[in-house]
Amino acid sequence: MLTIKNLKVNYGYVNALKGVDIDIKKGKIVSILGSNGAGKTSLLKAISGLVEDKEGQIIFDEKDITNLSTEKVVSLGISHCPEGRRIFPELTVEENLKIGAYVLRKSKINLNDEFNRVYSFFPKLKERSKQVAGTLSGGEQQMLAIGRALMSKPKLLMLDEPSLGLAPIIVSEIFKIIKDINKEGTTVLLIEQNANQALKISDYSYVLELGQVVTSGISQDLLNDESIKKSYLGA
Ligand code: ATP
Repeated sequence: MLTIKNLKVNYGYVNALKGVDIDIKKGKIVSILGSNGAGKTSLLKAISGLVEDKEGQIIFDEKDITNLSTEKVVSLGISHCPEGRRIFPELTVEENLKIGAYVLRKSKINLNDEFNRVYSFFPKLKERSKQVAGTLSGGEQQMLAIGRALMSKPKLLMLDEPSLGLAPIIVSEIFKIIKDINKEGTTVLLIEQNANQALKISDYSYVLELGQVVTSGISQDLLNDESIKKSYLGA
């Protein structure tokens, strides 16, 4: 579904990605692991058309999307839930979700169906639909950010550190919902520092270090790999 070939991203003299190859098969959950500054966020930004200086090739559904605008990338079916959630705190839950459906405005899709689909994954958001988003708990704000990304009906949902700053019990709840979203047919690209959880829910994983892929494999195998255990799982 998504093939990335020799992707390089630069910020001036900083080489954030130094030639990365990644392949994401339809229907799977693929996770990208790595410590702070490894280049994980830069990878998602490059796919979403949010970095200026990049080289290489990004192919989505057999179409070269390397140099497309963010709006075009979203309209082709890739949605990006950014690190730090970036919800609009002054707007209600419903208004935040509506913004996520912006690219559907010209299509004949019934917005109500999209709201219902998102609310079926996140019943708490339905209960709080008229509440101002800034007053939600951290976990609920993360749910809203994921819900908003789902409103554009993506084929590929990209999540940047959904577990960041949340209590373990909330993280488990959110990861379970990510699994449900995937089961309903959405392919997921998951960026995580929480390697343990990410390996448990994903099918395939890549480990990034200093802008390069250093390991990749079936997530279950990586979970049992001694060097991964030592470096990323706190064993
Ligand atoms: P984090 O989890 O901290 O976001 P990451 O793995 O997502 O880390 P990136 O945010 O992609 O890593 O950063 C990769 C490298 O690029 C780092 O060295 C970072 O300092 C640098 N970098 C990222 N964004 C910029 C920017 N806008 N300008 C300059 N350097 C940047």
